[in-house]
Amino acid sequence: MTKNSFFANTDLIALIGHPIKHSYSPFIQNVAFELKNLDYIYLGFDVMPDHLKSVLSGAMSLGLKGLNVTLPHKEKIIPFLEVLSEEASTIGAVNTVVNDHGKLIGYNTDAKGIIETLTPYKNEIAGSKVSVIGAGGSARAVIYTLIRHFKPGEITILNRTLQRADSLHNYFSVKMRYDSLNTMELFPPENVKTLYDSKLIINTTPLGMSPDFEDSVTGLEESFNDQQIVFDLVYNPPKSKLLQIAERQGAKIENGLKMLVTQAAKSFELWTGEEMPVESITKSLQLYLTK
Ligand code: NAP
Repeated sequence: MTKNSFFANTDLIALIGHPIKHSYSPFIQNVAFELKNLDYIYLGFDVMPDHLKSVLSGAMSLGLKGLNVTLPHKEKIIPFLEVLSEEASTIGAVNTVVNDHGKLIGYNTDAKGIIETLTPYKNEIAGSKVSVIGAGGSARAVIYTLIRHFKPGEITILNRTLQRADSLHNYFSVKMRYDSLNTMELFPPENVKTLYDSKLIINTTPLGMSPDFEDSVTGLEESFNDQQIVFDLVYNPPKSKLLQIAERQGAKIENGLKMLVTQAAKSFELWTGEEMPVESITKSLQLYLTK
């Protein structure tokens, strides 16, 4: 928001989801608008599923420039959009909408954040075993990105609810013609062997996220070894219990901060046509998270 924001020509971007009160997106986007001196403002709206259609029509009537979409609307919004990017269409979920002169276009920018985080390990991932923990919206983006950009030898989806993992298995087997997907229940202790045998483990569940610092999808040191990469989408705390245990066993670790900022930067670019000052935003966010 700039001083011009006192006038009526400020462009509005909205985050819609339920719940949204823990989101860092308003912080990231508003700091970026300020740093780039852009006359935009980003506001979060807690929207219940029943109101999604009317909220979209209101957003169009008010001339909003765009939206971020989070749980539980990422999949349900698709029928209301005129155009989908190839990524959003294949992933089956949208996290960014651009209002292009009355035409709503859906994108998924999470893939970009995942690519940015995993690119340093590209050669290690190719042809290797990968375990994806969780089967929700972010697991969809993770599985798409792995298949499209990292060519793993095999992906195992481990989820608390096996049926949900199976449905992702069926979806990607058909949509991306990928036939090296397996599914497993998350918690039986014998599944630790699957984690241990994986080159890359990605946690896409919220377990371990602030304030539940002591939670972890596995507390067993036998899940990890020093040849692995462990990527936790959780970014607050910066080193989740999962990452602490994995690091003690010698694994290389990545948290979700780079993904968070990269996906936000891609959305920012889609709305404004400008580059987000990613380094300054990351520093501001790190400071904000330590307060
Ligand atoms: P989602 O669609 O609700 O999926 C959540 C997944 O976590 C489901 O597979 C669910 O299992 C599992 N889960 C939830 N609570 C669990 C528990 N107590 N024990 C075991 N499994 C549990 O959520 P999402 O959109 O994928 O987001 C998941 C996490 O990723 C959130 O923490 C979010 O903040 C983070 N995220 C980070 C970024 C980033 O930029 N770093 C981007 C997107 C998401 P069931 O199927 O059994 O319910």
